[in-house]
Amino acid sequence: MGEIVLKGVTKRFGDVEVIPPIDLAIHDGEFVVFVGPSGCGKSTLLRLIAGLEDVSGGKIEIDGKDATETAPSDRGLAMVFQSYALYPHMSVKKNIAFPLKMAKLPPAEIEAKVQAAAKVLNLSAYLDRKPGQLSGGQRQRVAIGRAIVRSPEAFLFDEPLSNLDAALRVNMRLEISELHHTLKTTMIYVTHDQVEAMTMADKIVVLQAGRIEQVGSPLELYRTPRNRFVAGFIGSPK
Ligand code: ADP
Ligand code: MG
Repeated sequence: MGEIVLKGVTKRFGDVEVIPPIDLAIHDGEFVVFVGPSGCGKSTLLRLIAGLEDVSGGKIEIDGKDATETAPSDRGLAMVFQSYALYPHMSVKKNIAFPLKMAKLPPAEIEAKVQAAAKVLNLSAYLDRKPGQLSGGQRQRVAIGRAIVRSPEAFLFDEPLSNLDAALRVNMRLEISELHHTLKTTMIYVTHDQVEAMTMADKIVVLQAGRIEQVGSPLELYRTPRNRFVAGFIGSPK
């Protein structure tokens, strides 16, 4: 479970091919980081996997099944956005419970899942607050909580920390790594920040202009960057 395979996936917007054919295998439980400069196609690739954009060609398999035509809500994936996308008029508890309410789970089950997620994320004391009464880091945790309660096969993060200040970013980076350690669920994490990539990833996918420049562990990319772009981006001496 939690295995995502891209086979010749491409994306065009009008006449512009922003993702040339990509092959990529993400294994169950891996923490994979898509890294590259702004505009290189990271978000587009993540949105293709999530089903928020249709592929222009190729196939996306999730757990061995062709999911290319599967609706986003049926892919078993949970996306965490940088803008939090919380409902300001709802309490933290209601925000986290929202996807379960939509799925019409029994109230007792919703309550249990919300409490469990709040515990993992250190939000138990804040369940009755509104998002406006929380810090940026707490709001981000609520957004993650809303993903956790659905017990997804994989979490998809799109630059989740870019709105936070530097100190908080370090904390949240550790918290997300810890969460991965606890849940052992596949995570795909998009960032333009090399430090996040190098410190969080099992596997880094370096992108430039929609192309995969190199895939490897942080150490592999550091020791044997395939080209100047990767070396320059990762900060290794080549
Ligand atoms: P990143 O997340 O790495 O900054 P994006 O995936 O957002 O990059 O964008 C990749 C390229 O695709 C950019 O050139 C961007 O302008 C283009 N693009 C993204 N979304 C759309 C869209 N809906 N319509 C047209 N072009 C788009
Ligand atoms: Mg982006």
